[in-house]
Amino acid sequence: MPLPLRKGEFQQDFDVIILQMLLNIEGSPARRLKPDGHFGDGTLEAVIKFQKALSPPVPLETLGIVDERTWRELQAKVGSPRIALTFDDGPHASLTAPLLDGLDWWGAKATFFVVGEMAGRHPQILKRVADSGHEVGNHSWDHTGYCRPSFADIDAVIEDVRRAHEAIVAVVGQAKAPRVMRPPYGWVDTFREDRIQHIAGLDYAVVGWDVDPRDWESPAKAIYDYVLLNTKPGVNILLHDIQKNTMVAMLGNFGGASLPGVASVGALRVLCTVYELVTVSQLAGVGKTYSKGGLTSRACPALAPSSPSN
Ligand SMILES: [Zn+2]
Repeated sequence: MPLPLRKGEFQQDFDVIILQMLLNIEGSPARRLKPDGHFGDGTLEAVIKFQKALSPPVPLETLGIVDERTWRELQAKVGSPRIALTFDDGPHASLTAPLLDGLDWWGAKATFFVVGEMAGRHPQILKRVADSGHEVGNHSWDHTGYCRPSFADIDAVIEDVRRAHEAIVAVVGQAKAPRVMRPPYGWVDTFREDRIQHIAGLDYAVVGWDVDPRDWESPAKAIYDYVLLNTKPGVNILLHDIQKNTMVAMLGNFGGASLPGVASVGALRVLCTVYELVTVSQLAGVGKTYSKGGLTSRACPALAPSSPSN
């Protein structure tokens, strides 16, 4: 039975969402926000535990109410942890630019894993991505998975990475040449990953992901919920800037569609309130190999007739 979590001066639903994310950071198990805006018992217990640990303890008759001091202490303890949003498969003719508007508005940086073929189709949009301070990554020439039979020869993989690299560099310039590579579908094994990282002159890090809301097949609200409930400091989140539902989830309102209720602020605003949004290279540290999400040491998958679209 969920209990109401009253918040002293802070009665806005938006603050409740932020609090839930802060509790998530504190190591409390993620608790789903109920449709009525209330937390489950576990989140209330986490707030009470936090308040009792404060020195001096919060002097409230009913511990669990999030007063202004609790709010400040939570934020001070959490600081501004960093996460990385990644957007794959673009640039897209009509979706990428509004996303850039949103990122710019909130001062957020992201990483765009670009398909080489698309770079040539939408060069102005890709140039804007790079000029806005976002990181541009390589996502293959035409999104064919590197475990397909046509890539059985490693030289074909290397040629594909190079071809995409050159198409991207032709738009963004050598100074902003990609330094991160995400293979289509995340399909790579140790051998292929090693060879990609050692392609002469490119110095690539192969990048996976930590949080995957499966945005290519999910409604906007489901994407919004999944991202907010699973984001923790240091994660790299997989999204696609070719999916309208992803734009709705991130921006709250897009293309005549909107998220319900307080969620209409969009996940981007909530994330930017709690986290500093940086590129994957900034998250990993300059010059470090960033290979997360279980890509390393993974064998190529058995290929099913239909495959996911990340
Ligand atoms: Zn992809």
